Amino acid sequence: MKNIAILGASGSIGQNTLSVIRNYPDKFKVVALSVNSDIGRLSSQIREFKPLAVCVNDRDRALALSSKIKSGVKIFSGRQGLEELVRDKRIDQVVFAISGASALTPLVSAIESGKDVALANKEALVMAGPIILRLARKNKVRLMPIDSEQSAIWQCLEGEDRGALKKIYLTASGGPLRKLNKRELKDIRLKQVLKHPRWKMGRKITVDSATLMNKGLELLEAMFLFGLAASQIKVLVHPEALIHSMVEFIDGVLIAQLSTTDMRIPIQYALSYPQRLKNTLPEIDFYKLGALHFEKPDFKKFPCLGLAYAAARRLGTFPCVLNAANEVAVAEFLKEKLKFRHIPEVSAKVMRSHTNKLNPALSDILQADAWARQEALRVIARLN
Ligand code: NDP
Ligand code: MG
Repeated sequence: MKNIAILGASGSIGQNTLSVIRNYPDKFKVVALSVNSDIGRLSSQIREFKPLAVCVNDRDRALALSSKIKSGVKIFSGRQGLEELVRDKRIDQVVFAISGASALTPLVSAIESGKDVALANKEALVMAGPIILRLARKNKVRLMPIDSEQSAIWQCLEGEDRGALKKIYLTASGGPLRKLNKRELKDIRLKQVLKHPRWKMGRKITVDSATLMNKGLELLEAMFLFGLAASQIKVLVHPEALIHSMVEFIDGVLIAQLSTTDMRIPIQYALSYPQRLKNTLPEIDFYKLGALHFEKPDFKKFPCLGLAYAAARRLGTFPCVLNAANEVAVAEFLKEKLKFRHIPEVSAKVMRSHTNKLNPALSDILQADAWARQEALRVIARLN
């Protein structure tokens, strides 16, 4: 029996993780849950899964929960509460399904206290990849990716000679706006952006999919997770989203990972690794499918991808700065205070005024993150 903590339990990945766990009550036990503020959903999860402890980031909502819940569950609040909760010795594995940079310090806490990690959150890794990987090695912690592309590469590399890896192909469905031209993209509205053709996800990652920043973040994520150079990673638009990524070896052999487009598959693998467990999700029907398609991404239409390659070549604090500027821009777009076409412009301007710090410590990362957020808000104020 594996004891699991799920941070970001009320979100899309969090709920999918609970749905995997529901199928295997003899293999996984939920011992801790966290949300930002959605105590309604958390209350019903407490009733169903009976965790030992929960954390609500919003302190007022945490107080409201404690007056509502009669069971003996321990309630933590705030970022520090979460950092404390993940250190609980009864937890074996922590699922990071929180969105955004706020996952970083709890991730550090989980690794320092020796917990295996199943990582859906990509922002923390983008911000501080080398630090996270060093810490994981030092504490003998396994980092199991949930993001479907990273899970694919991980599975393709299992048992292979890493020294023989030449490059990887990160596949991208192309997002909801793939077929629009530059002019149509210019004034695209929030509602259209939130309609993703392949995946049902949280709002932030859905916007990132539309700008292709999601692929840019994944490029950085893959670099850090698998120790690659930016030049070894190729982004490949693949609208059917069945090949979740591929690896190519020095002898010209490629290995691809395919599965039904459902996040429960990579989530389940990260929980059950190295075992594979049965599930009842629909199989791919190749007779019906007929063909798979591939395209080169359009860097002119989607400048975020180019920004991510630039950050990947420069490293240091650049990936963190790009992530922070993008988070701020996306948040403003979600509030309908920024136009879609300005999202990459904000990140580009913030990156232009950044002075890089190579080999940053965690404190440098947190400082660069705070600086980039302020700078992004300044840029946005000037744009509007
Ligand atoms: P959602 O927006 O659906 O869920 C986010 C979760 O994190 C919610 O439980 C939310 O709580 C919680 N949360 C948000 N902000 C904070 C905070 N400051 N402190 C604590 N908790 C917080 O996101 P997704 O599930 O779509 O994505 C989660 C992560 O996984 C992202 O990093 C994303 O990039 C990555 N990912 C997602 C995929 C997907 O298919 N959805 C695929 C691959 C990666 P509340 O509900 O209370 O606001
Ligand atoms: Mg992905």
